[in-house]
Amino acid sequence: MTAMTPAVVAIGAGGLATARRAAAALGGAPVHGRAGRVDGADASFADTAAHLAALFRAGRPIVGVCAAGILIRALAPLLAGKDADPPAVAVSEDGAHVVPLLGGHRGANRMARRIAAALGGRAAVTTATDSRFGVALDDPPPGWTLANPGDAGAFLAALLAGARVRAADPPPWIAAGALPLDPAGALEIRVDDRAGAQGSPRALLYRPRRLALGVGCERGADPEAAAALAEAACAAAGVSGAAVACVASLDLKADEPAVHAVAARFGAPARFFPAARLEEETPRLANPSAAVFRAVGCHGVAEAAALAAAGPEGELIAPKRIAGRATAALARAAGVIDAEAAGAPRGRLAVVGLGPGDPAWRTPEAEAALAAAADVVGYGGYLDLLGPPPPGQRRHPFPLGAEEARARHALDLAARGGRVALVSSGDPGVYAMAALVFECLDRGGRADWRRVEVRVAPGVSAMQAAAARAGAPLGHDFCAISLSDLLTPWTVVEKRLRAAAAGDFVVALYNPASARRRVALGRARRILLAARAPETPVVLARDLGRPGETARRTTLAALSAADVDMRTVVLVGAAATRVAEGGEWVYTPRGYRVGGG
Ligand code: SAH
Repeated sequence: MTAMTPAVVAIGAGGLATARRAAAALGGAPVHGRAGRVDGADASFADTAAHLAALFRAGRPIVGVCAAGILIRALAPLLAGKDADPPAVAVSEDGAHVVPLLGGHRGANRMARRIAAALGGRAAVTTATDSRFGVALDDPPPGWTLANPGDAGAFLAALLAGARVRAADPPPWIAAGALPLDPAGALEIRVDDRAGAQGSPRALLYRPRRLALGVGCERGADPEAAAALAEAACAAAGVSGAAVACVASLDLKADEPAVHAVAARFGAPARFFPAARLEEETPRLANPSAAVFRAVGCHGVAEAAALAAAGPEGELIAPKRIAGRATAALARAAGVIDAEAAGAPRGRLAVVGLGPGDPAWRTPEAEAALAAAADVVGYGGYLDLLGPPPPGQRRHPFPLGAEEARARHALDLAARGGRVALVSSGDPGVYAMAALVFECLDRGGRADWRRVEVRVAPGVSAMQAAAARAGAPLGHDFCAISLSDLLTPWTVVEKRLRAAAAGDFVVALYNPASARRRVALGRARRILLAARAPETPVVLARDLGRPGETARRTTLAALSAADVDMRTVVLVGAAATRVAEGGEWVYTPRGYRVGGG
């Protein structure tokens, strides 16, 4: 899992320089500044508490250059638990004090130390063993698992009371700390991947993740049976499943539920290798198979994938076993396996709705998908709206109109194991990229695209934003019609306009006009006017959520093509749509029975 980029939030003008240096210490994190007070930040916000809350809900680590109390008050109502909350660090404006408030063991202590070192300040680390001994025994680094987390409390208490620790072969992260190591210590640290090893409150047992579990299977193999088979392989080798670093397989299996079920069972990532790489392992296989070679291009999947992930020093400790339509094998590496470096993960593509423009109209899910992406693909104008990319994120801007090229590029990147976000304005499923992605998957004839894990993150569509500005014109049955005849023959557009008119739907008109296409709106007006009163309220909303936004009201009779362009969405009321007393709001009553439910 790749950690999300922190946001460094500056609230007062005096904090900007400190925020910049803290951001640099964190590898170039973006600085968010309070509008009107902090000039020159990468992004700005108006309401501090709301902005902090939005970042926190999106799972974003927060560094606030402000009083700790501001962070505490903004975040306290949102706290979910120490395993779920993102880290939060408060930094005094002068940079002298850096206080990890939340998520000490989820990155806050580490960030605080880095910031303090860069600012010449002091990190006020308050988690007990970290601050005394420089190691988090209850939160070991990646690659290490504490077998019985429940043992840690008593162990740490004894340690803080002065007991010493014996460790025959301490892992590097323990050796690097300042534990009182002593061959005669009353406490003990054990490192063992064998199933029989035991820990206790006086002897912490760590599982080094140095096993690679290779899995092969036929299409549609039973996930439960595959997981049971993998457990049987561990039992046969006499090792603990907690020492499994990754579940490895052939790239053709990247979308195979059985492989992912095994990975989920072991709490380890699934990693995939191409057949050519697995074929290199043939000399080391216990059970090379010519039949497997004919089917997929390598002489084994389970054994070869386990060995490929375990590296050249690794050795097979459980040869291939078969049950039903799956195979499993285990290899042990010389040291802890860096799963991120073994093969490639299943590619992921998030099709993300950015909303109309204003980040406040963006869902936390969309923010999280953007922050997690290594590659972001989209129309250049939308990418600019996102502000500078977090460190390590690549942006792939495309010109207007190159929709299919964008979708194909995003799928290609994801098919290579990438973490990709493809962005759309508004909702990605409304006249936008999501439908195109599924068209490509359905008709593109590309098996590698189909193995990508696709997820769609919804957004606020232009008609919803326009309705919110106007009041509640979509309060009863409505439809959306695009007036573009680029992909739809005009006769079809006209047929739908007539049906909407006959059905008395409120109508949201997308793509009402472009520089070249000027007559469509006039035709739509005529069709709707044949069935609706001339004074029917119409909302014209332009550049919603963007600088220069306008939302104004007119009537169907007065509607003119001169009022609209491709940045406008038009809402035409139904028979019941009315202007509320006072003249400010437009709404469509909810029901057929006045005053009912
Ligand atoms: N996926 C987008 C729609 C894309 S079609 C969504 O869900 O909103 C493009 C059309 O959407 C534009 O021609 C315009 O009619 C409308 N639109 C998109 N963003 C808009 C905005 N910020 N303000 C007004 N209209 C917008």
